[in-house]
Amino acid sequence: MTMPTIKTLLASGHPGDTVTIQGWVRTKREQKTFSFININDGSTLGGIQVVADEQTADYEAVLKRINTGASVAVTGVLAESPAKGQRLELKAQTLEVFGEADDTYPLQKKRHSFEFLRTLGHLRSRTNTLGAVFRVRNACAQAIHQFFHERGFLWIHTPILTSSDCEGAGELFTVTSLDLNHPPQTAEHTVDFSQDFFGKPAYLTVSGQLEAEIMAMAFTNVYTFGPTFRAENSNTSRHLAEFWMVEPEMAFCNLGGNMDLAEAFLKYVFRYVLDHCEEDMAFFNQRIDDTVLATADAIANSEFARITYTEAVTQLQKSGQSFEFPVEWGIDLQSEHERYLAEEVFKRPLIVTDYPAAIKAFYMRLNDDGKTVAAMDVLAPKVGEIIGGSQREERLDILERRIDAAGLPRDAYWWYLDLRRYGTVPHAGFGLGFERLVQFITGMGNIRDVIPFPRTPENIEF
Ligand code: ATP
Ligand code: MN
Repeated sequence: MTMPTIKTLLASGHPGDTVTIQGWVRTKREQKTFSFININDGSTLGGIQVVADEQTADYEAVLKRINTGASVAVTGVLAESPAKGQRLELKAQTLEVFGEADDTYPLQKKRHSFEFLRTLGHLRSRTNTLGAVFRVRNACAQAIHQFFHERGFLWIHTPILTSSDCEGAGELFTVTSLDLNHPPQTAEHTVDFSQDFFGKPAYLTVSGQLEAEIMAMAFTNVYTFGPTFRAENSNTSRHLAEFWMVEPEMAFCNLGGNMDLAEAFLKYVFRYVLDHCEEDMAFFNQRIDDTVLATADAIANSEFARITYTEAVTQLQKSGQSFEFPVEWGIDLQSEHERYLAEEVFKRPLIVTDYPAAIKAFYMRLNDDGKTVAAMDVLAPKVGEIIGGSQREERLDILERRIDAAGLPRDAYWWYLDLRRYGTVPHAGFGLGFERLVQFITGMGNIRDVIPFPRTPENIEF
């Protein structure tokens, strides 16, 4: 049987309504003649306050079975609540216990570190913070689909298993069905992948971009939203081995159109979350990072600055700032540079364009100067790079030269090159790391705490 959520009842219930709620006990406070029991079903941060007393069936007996972590159904009457911060409470007539939880339940009332909570991947979503994170994560996903849907983009599903490594730079997970103890060997004593499942090496995808380009050449505007994998052994607060990526790709679009879309996209998602997750966002601002609301407001309402890479380098050089990584034309901007630009120079998000070709992927469109490519990074205060994108090279001869220069085999990209042989058009797109976005919106410091089941080096328990 489905019942209204606690959120729905708190929003639209009336005093005097008889209702049933179900959820897990967060706290129980026993007074002399009655008890307060806070029940949460995951639909809201605060749950609902249940008041049980002698008029509740089997009061004494049932109260003993109700402890933090237990699952219950409560039927009773809604009443105006005298307590601060809640409109309604529930006067219990019957309390039914589905499953008890004894005092070994690890989430007793005191606050736990996020690190400790990661060891409880099966229970941590029942805490206030992780609950708020996953509600906001859901709202972000809804906002993303709605944004693209309103603009007529097709959501396309790109493969998880792939034979290409996209840029030739990725850290790939190999997928094989060979017997690793006795792999077949070639005459040269290397593993004979011709005998493997796909007849050649296969990997987990690091990006859906190349396939998204195929689909954009048929449907004009498309986007992917799916899992990607990187076997990078970087134990940082911003890297996962399995993360979700959003990759729009647009035919008949140049870098300017790409920037416009990226800016509209971020504004839309932030506004959506501010509108739909008010309670959770207030919680983050209070408990996690007191700049969260101001930042979200700035993203939603301020125009992004736009400068070229060359201008960015000049700005950084004349800043007089001493950076850990010295700045000169040709370097890849580091997080410290990106943050300095966003936080100190522009004090708002900015888009940096036209990076040196040498530090960017082969598929980015070569500018007329022959030195830079039509790339763009969206940089934000506190997090640095949040989006990376480009106009793609649509000219066959130049693309072939760039593939050669990157030391990649042309024949592996035969179908990618074919797109430039048959009806090629200017096109552009970008990639957004979904967890980085959720981190950015919530202010959560560690990326492991914005995905329900994080995969990082030596961590795959849940
Ligand atoms: P970084 O320099 O931070 O490792 P990248 O240059 O490898 O990023 P891209 O290859 O451009 O990133 O991937 C597109 C987006 O995916 C990035 O802008 C970022 O938001 C996200 N991203 C990249 N790697 C990871 C990861 N390991 N975990 C989570 N998100 C990631
Ligand atoms: Mn990386």
